[in-house]
Amino acid sequence: MAIKIDKEQCIGCESCVATCPTGALSMEDGKANVNEDTCVSCGACVGECPVGAISLGGAAEKKEAAEGKDLWVMVELENGEPVGVTYELLGVAADLAAKCGQRCCAVLVGAEKGDIPAKLFAAGADVVYAVTGAEYAEYNTDLYTNAFCELAESYKPNAVMFGATVDGRDLAPRIAARLKTGLCADCTGLDMAGDLVEWTRPALGGNILATIVCDEHRPQMGTVRPKVFKAKEADASRTGEVVDYEVKNKVASKVTIVRKEALTEAGSIKIEDAEVVCSGGRGLGSCDNFKMLEELAVLFENGTVGGSRAVVDEGWVDHAHQVGQSGKTVTPKVYFAFGISGAIQHLAGMSSSDVIIAVNKDANAPIFKVAQYGIVGDAKEILPKLIAKIKAFKEA
Ligand SMILES: Cc1cc2nc3c(=O)[nH]c(=O)nc-3n(C[C@H](O)[C@H](O)[C@H](O)COP(=O)(O)OP(=O)(O)OC[C@H]3O[C@@H](n4cnc5c(N)ncnc54)[C@H](O)[C@@H]3O)c2cc1C
Repeated sequence: MAIKIDKEQCIGCESCVATCPTGALSMEDGKANVNEDTCVSCGACVGECPVGAISLGGAAEKKEAAEGKDLWVMVELENGEPVGVTYELLGVAADLAAKCGQRCCAVLVGAEKGDIPAKLFAAGADVVYAVTGAEYAEYNTDLYTNAFCELAESYKPNAVMFGATVDGRDLAPRIAARLKTGLCADCTGLDMAGDLVEWTRPALGGNILATIVCDEHRPQMGTVRPKVFKAKEADASRTGEVVDYEVKNKVASKVTIVRKEALTEAGSIKIEDAEVVCSGGRGLGSCDNFKMLEELAVLFENGTVGGSRAVVDEGWVDHAHQVGQSGKTVTPKVYFAFGISGAIQHLAGMSSSDVIIAVNKDANAPIFKVAQYGIVGDAKEILPKLIAKIKAFKEA
């Protein structure tokens, strides 16, 4: 959005031209003129104009902002059931909606409704917008974008939250571009100031937390990391309104076609859902040593392997198992950290685990600051001993 110049009012004094940091202002026929491609709407020229001929414009956007109502959560389905982050987002959206006097609404796009609306109400939704049909059985970028955008244009939400999952990260930016609004990706905190959502996310390499608002365009949009918020305990007594919506544009994606779905090498347990995460870092020294973590993980009923970014970069484990700021956030019952230093970006993804057990040969490693149990020693020696002990315990 560029600044607006009232040509009638402009007296051609040129004082604005010199103040523009991007050189977007020039004179044309004795009047100030703005190049919309280079104007960054910084407003430097606004105060400089002696006759008030320049404004930041935005009247249409302000109107748009005033129109938005309600907080929406996009429901993500897996095998026909909402995934964990949907319930987490409904819980936080319900609290934020109560804070600003709006409603918490869930958007369900799928093959059929079944008993899903009841589950969404129990988790905090007041309204469920449902778009159903066989064509929505599997996630499809264009079909889902079309459905969501038609709904949003009809009901004008104030804000929309998506899980920062593979599908959410694919869908949300496309919708934001289509609706000509902003998107704050990968948020780790949410709050309300009036009807503005304050989206918080790590910035500058995780060294600061930035709080971002989208004050003019609607809907305000963001993706939120799974496991950052806790889902509310389901309240089966809650009910709400179901709005069935018939979408006009049902054109499927020609860009993305899913040919085959396969489990990743690391198996079927998602790291976000695991109760025990056995993680390793560069301190394990080699891919072969790292493989011992798999031996350890299978000894637990719901255990899986995790890793620091350093070992993902080394190729010892798939990115799907990276824990941290640019990986996954995990909150298992037990988190093992073998040879992981505990960089701030790693801690961002695991410090909320119930119990953290760290093994590091450096007694001053930062990981020990968040660990309940710490062993100063060589992870390569301790890991096989621990595996042997647990095996012996299980056999006994
Ligand atoms: C924008 C950005 C995003 C990032 N995102 C992530 C992220 O999502 N996840 C992540 O993990 N990192 C992330 N990082 C990288 C992060 O800053 C660290 O570089 C990384 O976590 C280090 O991994 P590490 O602890 O395995 O390795 P190192 O820092 O090299 O630490 C190895 C540790 O092993 C110990 N050690 C060595 N030998 C042994 C042994 N034999 N026995 C026991 N201990 C031993 C050492 O004392 C040391 O503490 C990010 C960085 C940036 C800039």
